[in-house]
Amino acid sequence: LRASFSVIQKETGKINGLIIVLYDVTEQEKIEQERREFVANVSHELRTPLTTMRSYLEALGDGAWKDENLAPNFLAVTQEETERMIRLVNDLLQLSKLDATDYRLMKEFVNFTDFFNRIIDRFEMSKEQNVVFNRKFSKQARFVEIDEDKVTQVLYNIISNALKYSPEGGTITYRLKERGNMLEVSISDQGVGIPKDNLLKIFDRFYRVDKARTRKLGGTGLGLAIAKEMIHAHGGRIWATSEEGKGTTIYFTLPMESVQEDEWI
Ligand code: ADP
Repeated sequence: LRASFSVIQKETGKINGLIIVLYDVTEQEKIEQERREFVANVSHELRTPLTTMRSYLEALGDGAWKDENLAPNFLAVTQEETERMIRLVNDLLQLSKLDATDYRLMKEFVNFTDFFNRIIDRFEMSKEQNVVFNRKFSKQARFVEIDEDKVTQVLYNIISNALKYSPEGGTITYRLKERGNMLEVSISDQGVGIPKDNLLKIFDRFYRVDKARTRKLGGTGLGLAIAKEMIHAHGGRIWATSEEGKGTTIYFTLPMESVQEDEWI
């Protein structure tokens, strides 16, 4: 709480009254603090690839370019770091769009069962690891009103993580469940898992359970924060359960549309 005092004084010098204004600054300060932390994180995340690139480029400039063994390797590193920066800046742009107050969803009526299958197919076709996909949901139609691009992004972020953290030969299980008027989507992996204390934090911007490991895997620490914003914009919830060493499940919900039979006539 912050207070400001103003004394009301007459020309004669006589004090007429006193105005005391009390402000609740806690919420505002919290937002300001979060903003400062965010800027510090962004700066740090951008500086790391830039300083790596600088030292490799310096070495190349100092003569490493003539070394047939070193040069291709050094160039590959600078390329990887550039890719990481592009991913980071793209994620930041997405987040800033989501933060904008005039942000609109382009919602369409979608059969989520078909939509989910199409996305899983895409991952199944292009996956490079030995991971088994298990779809545990019926063919039955389930209708939702969603912005397909946004929900595609959510699924992309969750499934990429599941693949990243899956062991060789592991299974990723996809489920759909109707709970009241909500559709619950879940994606389970058999990977390293997440310690209990971190289960809420993984949806925070730039939070990573193991910084060194996830940096190596190419993550930006923004994937789940973006997913959370997008699911909240749809009126859903997102959360995780996990057992260390056994695996992780990410859940999210979306409001379902009940289709009246006569609407089909
Ligand atoms: P990143 O780009 O680093 O993957 P995310 O926001 O997608 O960022 O995830 C945040 C962190 O949550 C990750 O760095 C990782 O530590 C943890 N995490 C997310 N998904 C999983 C998973 N399926 N298994 C284990 N850890 C996970």
